[in-house]
Amino acid sequence: MVWTGDRRTRPRNGARRLPEKQRQRILKRYPTCMLAVPGRCTVTSTEVHHVVDAADGGSDNDFNDDGTPQLVGVCHECHKHVSAKTSAARRGGGTRVMREKERHPGVLP
Ligand SMILES: [Zn+2]
Repeated sequence: MVWTGDRRTRPRNGARRLPEKQRQRILKRYPTCMLAVPGRCTVTSTEVHHVVDAADGGSDNDFNDDGTPQLVGVCHECHKHVSAKTSAARRGGGTRVMREKERHPGVLP
């Protein structure tokens, strides 16, 4: 998290606020981290992750129209990791993506 362009002018993945009730519902539905990044995951879901990033048209609905999850519970460490990767990719092809080889179990496109 070193980039300095964080002016919060527009909502971004991880920066959006979900209603507390919805957040609790998601965390209850996914009590364990859905990202499960090897070597990082702390297993217990504490945050809600937008599977489709807001910048890519992701909604704040629990599920997408096709029935795939849009909001899933993740742990802080994985969330941080994935958000960093997403912003890196968005910034220009992901020249310095950390640990490219990891795959996420069906939660990222
Ligand atoms: Zn995790």
